[in-house]
Amino acid sequence: MVDVRGVHKSYGPLEVLRGVDLRVRPGEVTVIIGPSGSGKSTLLRGINHLEKIDRGYIAIDGEFVGYRRSGNRLHELKEREILRRRTHIGFVFQNFNLFPHLTVRQNVTEAPISAQRRPRDEVEALAAELLEQVGLSGKADAYPRQLSGGQQQRVAIARALALRPKVVLFDEPTSALDPELVGEVLEVMKALARGGTTMIVVTHEIGFAREVADTVAFMDAGRIVEQGPPPRVLDRPEHDRTRAFLGRVL
Ligand code: ATP
Ligand code: MG
Repeated sequence: MVDVRGVHKSYGPLEVLRGVDLRVRPGEVTVIIGPSGSGKSTLLRGINHLEKIDRGYIAIDGEFVGYRRSGNRLHELKEREILRRRTHIGFVFQNFNLFPHLTVRQNVTEAPISAQRRPRDEVEALAAELLEQVGLSGKADAYPRQLSGGQQQRVAIARALALRPKVVLFDEPTSALDPELVGEVLEVMKALARGGTTMIVVTHEIGFAREVADTVAFMDAGRIVEQGPPPRVLDRPEHDRTRAFLGRVL
């Protein structure tokens, strides 16, 4: 369970998150939509503690992200513990962010072996399975630069899954792709959703949201303005701002 409560975050005078609440149950898919600058990436980065929040808390399966409680105060964890907990969260970026000097297989096995200290045999076997799952068995020894954008993003997804994460966060995973490559990445994500992976996906792909989301959350100006099942939020939004946004993207 991902539990985001009362989260605030400012950059200097700019309040980017202004009290965000979000709960995602195991196996559920939440799609976050909203205009540019509304705080979607900042929220995802907060969930992974790539960005420190100012107020509120984020917990995953009852463990605070980045903090431990002592009495009724939260203390930031040591860097090593932050990194350890971060490995339980998969993150798929808009620009893939693969390690350019590592092969596809090494990209997938690197963190489980060196950060999670799992046995190499087991990790290699899992990597082979995951590459098969994303349709890239034949590319294990290729380097990222030898792959198309869609293939690179599918490697990034396999890499995230190799961590055996509690949740996978996707930040506009298809928006850097040529249009003809978007479908192959969405298909992989749909299969994950059907297989019960807990996912939080920031995307402008409304069709994807409609098909796989359990919950769609519309974010605007640092708040989740409304959330609910796709038909309610996408077809019968309650708020003018949601309607205006959907009018622009649909
Ligand atoms: P987009 O759809 O364009 O990706 P977003 O909803 O993901 O937008 P964020 O990237 O979370 O929006 O940014 C929210 C606001 O915070 C923006 O006004 C942005 O300029 C600002 N911002 C983000 N990161 C920083 C930073 N490191 N320093 C200062 N301001 C930042
Ligand atoms: Mg963003």
